Amino acid sequence: RAYNFNAGPAALPLEVLQQGQEEFINFLDSGMSIMEMSHRSPIYEQVHNEVQSLLRELMGIPDSYKILLLQGGASTQFAMVPMNLLPAGKVGAYVMTGSWSEKAIKEAQLFGETAVAASSEADKFNRIPDLSAIKLPDNAAYLHVTSNETIEGTQYQTFPDTGDVTLIGDMSSDIMSRPVDVSRFGMIYAGAQKNLGPSGVTIVIAREDMVLASPKNIPTMMRYETHAKNNSLYNTPPSFSVYLAGLMLKWVKAKGGVADIEKINRDKTRLIYDTIDQSGGFYRGFADQGSRSLMNITFRIHTEELEKQFVKESEAHGFVGLKGHRSVGGLRASTYNAVPMESCKALADFMADFQKRNG
Ligand code: PLP
Repeated sequence: RAYNFNAGPAALPLEVLQQGQEEFINFLDSGMSIMEMSHRSPIYEQVHNEVQSLLRELMGIPDSYKILLLQGGASTQFAMVPMNLLPAGKVGAYVMTGSWSEKAIKEAQLFGETAVAASSEADKFNRIPDLSAIKLPDNAAYLHVTSNETIEGTQYQTFPDTGDVTLIGDMSSDIMSRPVDVSRFGMIYAGAQKNLGPSGVTIVIAREDMVLASPKNIPTMMRYETHAKNNSLYNTPPSFSVYLAGLMLKWVKAKGGVADIEKINRDKTRLIYDTIDQSGGFYRGFADQGSRSLMNITFRIHTEELEKQFVKESEAHGFVGLKGHRSVGGLRASTYNAVPMESCKALADFMADFQKRNG
């Protein structure tokens, strides 16, 4: 298998893929693949409900929260959040931490008034702004944060205290990577294709009051209420992606749960950040130390020439996905939950060797 450091869709655990393969043609002796089955069948409904209950268990989601399994990716949530939750006269507040929060606010601007509550743009988004710098407008409908900026490689270490104002988190690139106190959020959403399985299903975790009374003048499929009141079975769900997300959640559980996964993630990333920090300046981490991500490690080498050579040689050594996002350049190693320790060790060794040959 490749040393897969893709930013998304990303690596899946071998065990999950193997189980998916074993069950692919004849799911639970039904004579059918799960993807050939009616989404109204008891077998599919069991899979669907189990994904919700595993999410609830592993993330400690309170009973007063709904868990929706939607389509359209996190990008659709950028629009659904303001369509549903930003009434006239209120302001959608956003913390600007990089590329994905910029996309989120742009969508909100199509529907209502928005405000930038804090920004690290002046520092090229190399850090999460000080939480004490967040200024909430008086009539804020919510504060939206991007818990992990996938492209810049920054991550909130703690979340802001917003008092009565609802906190909404885009956790697409770090959901399930560390324990989070869900009760501090009114809503959390994430595309599945980094830590939760293949692309195709989008998870929305929301306090009931956020999703049970949506405006009537927006399309049916865009109303949270439609999905919340129909157990996310109003229309055909992305059944195969939901099924694989279930296998992924069972894998997390077998690893001991989210706190244990975080420990593994810290050990994995330490190997690579240490290699950067001990390189005497050959490698430079992009993110400020205090904002470093456990999921996306962004770094540079002093010339673009060497960066290109690094990518080329890494590919020849079986590494995939180390080129930085086209919008920021440099290098990026995405170390999501399913990336094994041995891939990170191999990368740290490769980096040290590359430096020896080119430093
Ligand atoms: N938010 C973050 C933090 C992301 O990393 C991504 C995708 O990489 C998205 C949103 C967009 O997700 P999707 O492709 O599911 O629309």
